[in-house]
Amino acid sequence: MLYRKMPKNGDELSILGFGCMRLPTTEKGQIDEPRATRQVRYAIDHGINYLDQQNQAGTEGLEYATARDLGVVVMEPLRGGNISLPTPPSPVEEIWQRADTPRTPVEWALHWVWNHPEVTLILSGMNEEDHIQENLAIANAARPNSLTKAECDLVEEAARKYQEIMKVGCTGCGYCLPCPEGVKISTAFEVYNTVHLFDKKVEGQYMYALRLSGLLSDQKSGYASQCVACGECLEKCPQQIEIPDFLADIAEEMEDGEMSNRLSILKKMLNM
Ligand code: SF4
Ligand code: SF4
Repeated sequence: MLYRKMPKNGDELSILGFGCMRLPTTEKGQIDEPRATRQVRYAIDHGINYLDQQNQAGTEGLEYATARDLGVVVMEPLRGGNISLPTPPSPVEEIWQRADTPRTPVEWALHWVWNHPEVTLILSGMNEEDHIQENLAIANAARPNSLTKAECDLVEEAARKYQEIMKVGCTGCGYCLPCPEGVKISTAFEVYNTVHLFDKKVEGQYMYALRLSGLLSDQKSGYASQCVACGECLEKCPQQIEIPDFLADIAEEMEDGEMSNRLSILKKMLNM
């Protein structure tokens, strides 16, 4: 990690962090609030990862920001965890195994983002102290333009493979929520993607029943079948996902005639 020594007391501060330096100012030197708000909003809203190079801000957004001398804060470098599972789907794992330098899925994803010289800061969701240590170690080792052409090609290949096997391009950002009918949209997509990434339909149907029924949380169901196709969520989704259409597919696949049996079994297991 890089440190900066403070001139007054000699304290060493890490230069990692979230800051709002160099916000645009008016001619009088005050912060130009409308432009500053747009700048920060732009940075926060636009995730960048190796799967989403052509949607959201993507690599085009990186170039746009750089041309305007904006710092770039990258959200969603691990795509809501989709591309950082310790054991990736086997077709992707086969691709990573061909690399000359072995890396974990998290390392591939973060090294790829840091490889872009335009990137100022990465905001990566972390739930455990180990994640913090892992992310800091990668940030410490990664350098702009340090991945070889062969490594960049490998990442492109992994991205194409994920796009082939992932059903819905949902990042789990939650901007589409709340749904007036209570559909747990991102949870439904997360379970559906997991089922197809790992080809585990039966386990997935139990997971769907558990998480969408609300048994574990607020006791309110949010099944895909509750969608009435009002379209309210469509314009809120930065990924432009055809949400009601996918929800109809999910309802058909995950809510079959065995759904109530699954719920009974789950309730027994949870002593409910
Ligand atoms: S289209 Fe369906 S999921 Fe979207 S807001 Fe309407 S009811 Fe909810
Ligand atoms: S459906 Fe769209 S808005 Fe909703 S969580 Fe997924 S990516 Fe975000």
